[in-house]
Amino acid sequence: MVEKASRTLAYICPVCRKPVVIERSVFQLAASASSLPCPCGESSLHVEMWGDRVRMTVPCLFCGRDHTVACSARAFLHEKVLAFSCAASGLDCCYVGEEEAVFSAMRRLEEAMDKVEAEAGAQGTFLDEIVMHEVLSEIKEIAQRDGISCTCGSHQWKLQVNYSSVDLFCAQCGAAMRIPAATASDIDDICCKTKLLIRGKE
Ligand SMILES: [Zn+2]
Ligand SMILES: [Zn+2]
Ligand SMILES: [Zn+2]
Repeated sequence: MVEKASRTLAYICPVCRKPVVIERSVFQLAASASSLPCPCGESSLHVEMWGDRVRMTVPCLFCGRDHTVACSARAFLHEKVLAFSCAASGLDCCYVGEEEAVFSAMRRLEEAMDKVEAEAGAQGTFLDEIVMHEVLSEIKEIAQRDGISCTCGSHQWKLQVNYSSVDLFCAQCGAAMRIPAATASDIDDICCKTKLLIRGKE
């Protein structure tokens, strides 16, 4: 049996929303912990091998959080395709495997994502209605106190509501900030904030 000595890893960048597909040799993956960044530089997938276990930290587009997932090194290096999913949304957030299998899994995920987003947009449905409502009203309160600004100095911003998160965009430099709105702890997180700072141009 001829083993392909490389693995393909993929996730969707929560910041620029583009699929990130990276190929690494088995040697590179085993040699040291790797950080596999999105070309936009705003998110990255971390992979660490510990003996016969592999641990990955995956930025998740759907809930806006990082997921830590683990599997055996054997599965990681040999399975045709492994899928890891987001517990909050039930959608896949990361694939590891052979190049072709990973690419087709990614295509299906992108289709599923488009559908979820389109449905959410059309019907105004969210992963959790109450959480979304609370998070939006907290953002509104912060906005009323002029608490939303960008590191570029702008206080002008736009808001986009997603299925399980809210994006704030700086109207001047275009920088984005994602606020998760998936679980009750996301309400707690935003409740204690009086300011939201978008990381744009300094
Ligand atoms: Zn990106
Ligand atoms: Zn998630
Ligand atoms: Zn800005």
